[in-house]
Amino acid sequence: MPCDPPPPAEGGGGGPEPVLLTPGPLTTRPETRAAMDRDWGSRDPAFIALTAQVRERLLAIANAGEGFTCVPLQGSGTFAVEAQLGTLVPREGRLLVLVGGAYGRRKVEICRRAGRDHAVLESEETAPPSVAAVAERLAAEPAITDVALVHCETTTGILNPLDDIAAAVSAAGRRLHVDAMSSFGGIPIDLGRVPLASLAASANKCLEGVPGVGFVIARTDHLETCAGNAHAVSLDLHAQWAGLEANGQWRFTPPTQVLAALDAALDALDAEGGVGGRFARYWENCRTLVDGMRGLGFETLLDDAVQAPIIVTFRAPEDPAWDFGGFYDRLSARGFVIYPGKLAQVESFRVGCIGVFRADTMARFIAAAGGVLAEMGVENPA
Ligand SMILES: *Cc1c(COP(=O)(O)O)cnc(C)c1O
Repeated sequence: MPCDPPPPAEGGGGGPEPVLLTPGPLTTRPETRAAMDRDWGSRDPAFIALTAQVRERLLAIANAGEGFTCVPLQGSGTFAVEAQLGTLVPREGRLLVLVGGAYGRRKVEICRRAGRDHAVLESEETAPPSVAAVAERLAAEPAITDVALVHCETTTGILNPLDDIAAAVSAAGRRLHVDAMSSFGGIPIDLGRVPLASLAASANKCLEGVPGVGFVIARTDHLETCAGNAHAVSLDLHAQWAGLEANGQWRFTPPTQVLAALDAALDALDAEGGVGGRFARYWENCRTLVDGMRGLGFETLLDDAVQAPIIVTFRAPEDPAWDFGGFYDRLSARGFVIYPGKLAQVESFRVGCIGVFRADTMARFIAAAGGVLAEMGVENPA
């Protein structure tokens, strides 16, 4: 299979469409967007078949066997996470949330609003959670029934040790719910091997679809026990699943075009050689970015050993000529959209490695960033 994601025809060169170097929504293929150019009746057999097909394809990406089901849900990724935790953590349960950034903190807020009993185990933003600390906490607190982990914490771009934490949680007899929003489709996850109760993700990150739909892949035997558990009608994953199983239809208006685009985006994932092929391309993008930016004098927040090939955080230069707004605007005028930082302590900005582009586009970005620094008079970006 050729690894051939075409760079967007006009992006990154001052054309009308910029290259989105963000964690999503991101740069998509023309074929993906073209798949939206028709109307679908939501109760029509053709759309029912499309829904079934996308659910199957998503399960296959995670190598999820018979024991799992995939439940799509309208909305952005947070809707899926809120449905995941609100439905799959029992009302009488207690959730241990592993927090290492903004998306972990958002889960704490979700628990608070849903009235779910929870505990927090916080780690530094620049280091993954300690597997030993998780095991210790589970041993010390028998009331904990479930654990929530962010796979790639997009706040920094850190890759958390999913396999080891899953093993520790499973050994302690608890359920693990993973937020794989910014990794699913770009970093291999093998549910045949890694013991998870559920994972949540969305269409518009590494799957390279358009925004508007998320999904949860869950162990069917657990989901079956969760009727009436959810705190909100629209976020009731059990009811959504029961409806789909009963007649193949969504309970409420489905994002028809978004789902068609996701199906087309999955064709492109297959053509690229699946998750393995995409993972390799993202790593090339990431390597080119990190090497290039270091060449310009920038420093990464994270050590290479914990960096995921999804999004990279750079420390803001201390040079008095530096100003993020100016840097952003000038890059944007050159056709590249970057992302602000989201760190509590350190001033930073982020550049995404995911989306429909290759290392040659990233090299053009580095050249553009070098030009912008010179224009701004930033002499030392460290
Ligand atoms: C993007 C993201 C989400 C969901 O964000 P939305 O803006 O609601 O799509 C959740 N968790 C992580 C780790 C993410 O990267």
